[in-house]
Amino acid sequence: MSAVNGHAARKTPATRKARVLDVAIIGAGFSGLGTAIRLREQGITDIAILERGDDVGGTWRDNTYPGAACDIPSNLYSFSFAQNPRWSRGYSGSAEILDYVHHLVDRFELRPLMRFRHNVKGLEFDEARGAWTISIAGKRNVHARCVVAAQGPLANPSLPDIPGIDSFGGEVIHSARWDNDYDFDGKRVAVIGTGASAIQIVPELARRVDFLKVFQRTPAWILPRLDYSAPDWNKTLFDKWPASQTAVRNALFYAHEAMATGVIWNTPVTRLLEGLAKAFLRHQVPDAWVRRQLTPQYRIGCKRLLISNDYYPALMRDNVKLYDWPIDKICEKGIRSAEGIEHQVDCIVFATGFSVPKAAAPFPITGAGGRQLDNEWARGAAAYKSVNVAGYPNLFMTLGPNAGPGHNSALAYIEPQIDYIVQGIGTILEYDLRALDVRADAQAKHNAELQKRLARTNWNSGCSSWYLTEDGFNATMYPGFATQYRAQMKAFVNADYRAIRHNAEFSRTVDA
Ligand code: NAP
Repeated sequence: MSAVNGHAARKTPATRKARVLDVAIIGAGFSGLGTAIRLREQGITDIAILERGDDVGGTWRDNTYPGAACDIPSNLYSFSFAQNPRWSRGYSGSAEILDYVHHLVDRFELRPLMRFRHNVKGLEFDEARGAWTISIAGKRNVHARCVVAAQGPLANPSLPDIPGIDSFGGEVIHSARWDNDYDFDGKRVAVIGTGASAIQIVPELARRVDFLKVFQRTPAWILPRLDYSAPDWNKTLFDKWPASQTAVRNALFYAHEAMATGVIWNTPVTRLLEGLAKAFLRHQVPDAWVRRQLTPQYRIGCKRLLISNDYYPALMRDNVKLYDWPIDKICEKGIRSAEGIEHQVDCIVFATGFSVPKAAAPFPITGAGGRQLDNEWARGAAAYKSVNVAGYPNLFMTLGPNAGPGHNSALAYIEPQIDYIVQGIGTILEYDLRALDVRADAQAKHNAELQKRLARTNWNSGCSSWYLTEDGFNATMYPGFATQYRAQMKAFVNADYRAIRHNAEFSRTVDA
């Protein structure tokens, strides 16, 4: 042993090596799990699913508020390749949807791919290696040739910017992070927000609380929900003869497609839907003053069209009151509205939606040449076919920019995205590409057309919604039928991409 300055010289520890995966998928909701299933069907098996929670299910794991249910028929809310014949209702509750997701995990043996409590903090592309470095909170980096960002746009709850929000001394609950231990019985409760989540929560809370004050900023257009309890013979029929369920599914799909003619564009169908919604309001709300409060002053479809049979009746209960005065501030004991009344409550429920990454990256993403997605998306997110972004090779997104459905099942959009992504990743691995990058001009052309079409939609007709940035840029919705979306995702147009091969053999390990 040699000695330096009287100390034994230490050996430099050998550099630890980390493996480079073929694919890392971020998020274990419908999109992430579906992508893993389809990749494996194509023989791509070197996959990890990075999930920040400790269970699968995404939004259906997180949204456990009372009354949480899908506002799309159950028969449309499953993968076409894994239909569920046993849905108990026309519109299933969140627990049943979560069961379906767990069933997918078991049936397709996805457990071994899962890495729970892996909260992705950032992505960085190494151009020389042709691989992404994925930083994970409190854990070692993960490395992968391809990344699928499937964390979902409705993952992070948003608390509004109301003065004094931290001063409230009672219970604060967000709809997407429900406190199932809080006992609402006999409590004085305020709900802020009247969107898709609120209209499901309000009827449930109304039955339990002493009184409920609902704070509305903008009323929603609401249509009846054609729900039913599925009889056993129906489940047996779907089970024994899957073609019958496919037929029902197709009928529902095209019925929703027909709705697009009134929801997405301003047509006579729009007027018809508004007439139906107003008739429904008249039928359920006898009080003319409350009806006035609940009548929207914007075009149907501009914000998400809601369905509910029990929201209006809940507002008519003696222990429920709707307030449409703006909220001035939140104070220690409750909510002060603009007309100067302090509403003292034990609990405030924020049904105020999500921080949707429509003008920012979901987490820092560094692409080729050090470019930052945050900077490029500062004025509004944009992608090519909602899946790829120029300058961020080998990165794919599900429910990315302008992939949003306004009238049909999210899964009708997610499935074609997944199949498209599988084609892209298959190309990278088959041809051993260092980078597969969409061309900036193809992306620009795609978006110019998209924005031209969006300008003619109801979403861009003047209301404010989570679909738009503060400047009114629509970075979320797809301006067409789901059928059109599916058609554009069919072909992977190679000419719209730049493919770069590795100079030397790709190394499967990287310094950790
Ligand atoms: P949301 O649609 O964004 O609604 C948020 C509500 O909070 C709106 O009524 C909004 O009023 C109100 N709000 C926000 N900030 C406020 C403030 N500072 N003061 C007063 N009110 C305020 O959120 P969400 O209801 O959670 O739904 C979000 C999306 O999740 C839906 O569009 C849908 O895509 C999805 N979702 C789906 C289901 C389902 O059944 N499948 C169920 C729930 C949610 P304004 O309208 O004035 O902005």
